[in-house]
Amino acid sequence: MTSSATRSIVIALDGPSGSGKSSTSRGVAKRLGLRYLDTGAMFRAMTWWMLENGVDLHDAAAVAAAAARPDIVSGTDPEAPTISVDGVDVAEAIRGSAVTGAVSPVSAVPEVRARLLELQRAAIGEGGIVVEGRDIGSVVWPQAEVKLYLTADAGARAARRALEEGGSDLAATEASLLARDKIDSTRATAPLTMPEGAQHIDTTPYTLDEVIDQVVALAESIG
Ligand code: C5P
Repeated sequence: MTSSATRSIVIALDGPSGSGKSSTSRGVAKRLGLRYLDTGAMFRAMTWWMLENGVDLHDAAAVAAAAARPDIVSGTDPEAPTISVDGVDVAEAIRGSAVTGAVSPVSAVPEVRARLLELQRAAIGEGGIVVEGRDIGSVVWPQAEVKLYLTADAGARAARRALEEGGSDLAATEASLLARDKIDSTRATAPLTMPEGAQHIDTTPYTLDEVIDQVVALAESIG
């Protein structure tokens, strides 16, 4: 890949929770000297703000009306990605169970998606970035030069997430993942789906480094 191609490339990584998207995206960005955007963190930050501000999350109209209010800022350094809301660092708070349990219904509200779509496209800008989410290759940036759709067996996904969460209950983690997958893939606006033109990688049998190798090779092959 030429350096000018590297500077402008957009690599879109979509897939369900625990498929290895985050670790893969960060690893690829570090190897290729690209920026990194975690769009799931933006939906989590929006959800955190709604919880903090007492918005009734079962009331889609209330969620829609509030969607423009939080000021969400994402830092795109893959060595140290950051996320803040109204100037508050929420990197840790957005990983808690309150946010994880509420994020999928909030993400299904079209006004929330429209607001974050604007921020996501602004962050992608001139490219040179690896972007992970659920609708990056299908809606946010369908023109991405490299599109991947990562999946893994539900058991493997739950085991990875439970490990990240400090050894939480495996069965409960798997149930929570599957519940979020269901909402994410059946919502009307920008559902989780394999984007047209995406390469599917089932990460179950591979180590993280092996998956990163595959994505880097793909990116290098387009140059
Ligand atoms: O990737 P992560 O698990 O942190 O995403 C949290 C939630 O944010 C997902 O379950 C989904 O509801 C939502 N999301 C989305 N579209 C994206 C990224 C995340 O709807 N592009």
